[in-house]
Amino acid sequence: MVFVGELLSWGFHGRFCALPVGKHTKGPPANSLSSRKSLRTLSSSFSSPSLRYAVLGAGFAGISVAWHLLKQCPKDSNLKVDLYDEVGIGGGASGVSGGLLHPYSPKGKLLWRGADCFRECLALLSIAEAAICSNGSNSLAGVGDSSSDLDNFLVRRRGILRPAMDMKNFNNFNDNAQNCDPSCSIETIDKDTAWKLAPNISLPVNSAFHMPQAVNVHPLRYLQALFLACQNLGRQLSSTSHTQKDLCLHKKTVQNLIELEDEYDAVIICLGAKADMLPELYGWLPLRACRGVIAHLELPGDTSLESCFREHYPDDTPSVLSDAWLAIQGTRISTDEATKALQELLPKASAFYPGIKDWTFAGAKAGLRAMPPLTAHGSLPLLGCVDNFIGKDTNCRYWLFGGLGSRGLLYHALLGRLTAQAVISCNEQFLPSELTSWKNNS
Ligand SMILES: Cc1cc2nc3c(=O)[nH]c(=O)nc-3n(C[C@H](O)[C@H](O)[C@H](O)COP(=O)(O)OP(=O)(O)OC[C@H]3O[C@@H](n4cnc5c(N)ncnc54)[C@H](O)[C@@H]3O)c2cc1C
Repeated sequence: MVFVGELLSWGFHGRFCALPVGKHTKGPPANSLSSRKSLRTLSSSFSSPSLRYAVLGAGFAGISVAWHLLKQCPKDSNLKVDLYDEVGIGGGASGVSGGLLHPYSPKGKLLWRGADCFRECLALLSIAEAAICSNGSNSLAGVGDSSSDLDNFLVRRRGILRPAMDMKNFNNFNDNAQNCDPSCSIETIDKDTAWKLAPNISLPVNSAFHMPQAVNVHPLRYLQALFLACQNLGRQLSSTSHTQKDLCLHKKTVQNLIELEDEYDAVIICLGAKADMLPELYGWLPLRACRGVIAHLELPGDTSLESCFREHYPDDTPSVLSDAWLAIQGTRISTDEATKALQELLPKASAFYPGIKDWTFAGAKAGLRAMPPLTAHGSLPLLGCVDNFIGKDTNCRYWLFGGLGSRGLLYHALLGRLTAQAVISCNEQFLPSELTSWKNNS
């Protein structure tokens, strides 16, 4: 299976205008956090204190936060995490994403905290894999459509090959590769070495970059497995203490934040490109929506072609990243959104893997990325407490974890941990200022 992803169109959600933080409050709260907390403390004063959090969105951001809330919650507290998603686990961009994971920009520069993010993401991937092992191989029944071991992978650790498409591209990447992080090394390789890794790959300037530690994730299986890991953790924590730790998934559209107002100690908004569709946030978030397409391609049902592919594209071959992204995931290919997408994607993909022209189109999926503005550190996710935007006189009650752009997989683990820490401690200082400074301009 191969995914070929590509950007198709850009758009803005609603308005984005500048207003000083705290200037657009909308009147006194119906029920403030302090009154809710004192009620909760009273009712639980003879037992363990209780914490209740709502996490909106079950994509990379939401499930990572849920995991870290469970992990970091004080041992002597009861905890209830309600995870809301209108579609279900991986119902947004995360579920259709290409699963590409490495810490570099397209020019080979290490991204903001790239090495930390990469390491934390690998750790979370291992936690998800361990959950499947402990729950048995059928624990993700219904996810995926194939029975072979290869096609049921969660993380494919075969590295990524990046052909240099012209001399400028080669020189840029080659210079930046000198400063790569050892956790994800970049090797400059010649045509013969590249052909040993990926037979029949086309290399316009006879060179490629190989990232042996880069990985390819099956996003939907990963999210299902991480959700399973959360449930396991909740059970384990409950059985080893006198407290109850629960995670509950609600398949429900959240229309607005007011409907959750009285129930939770904190609400964490992880709605991806739809975050600013909440009426309370509409127009305040500096996000652009960017549509991306994954086309799914298969080898024609001709066994001689299939065995030919197996021969020329063995199972341990790296995936290939260039103007399009070929996620080699077995003997079939997946690419994105119908004929138009295919017309855009195929020429790009066939420039470095000509054999793809023989494959047949099997369907398309699309998703919306929530693109944050460009800063001096690159395009960084938007994090932080958003009480001021909601206009409630609350204290660290509403939080945003959004704007993951094209790198949700890379960022979700580390930033999910930091967000959970900030939420539990009611302290935004746990978040890097680079990720909260967007609020100064909103
Ligand atoms: C085609 C494509 C390919 C990509 N490839 C890669 C890649 O290879 N590597 C990488 O790192 N990133 C990739 N990305 C980017 C990555 O997918 C995103 O950065 C990431 O998914 C964002 O995660 P999220 O949890 O913030 O948002 P989402 O995954 O969009 O999650 C938001 C969730 O909220 C739910 N929701 C929305 N509104 C409501 C509501 N009102 N009530 C209840 N639920 C609601 C949705 O159903 C959804 O499940 C790709 C994106 C696209 C579109």
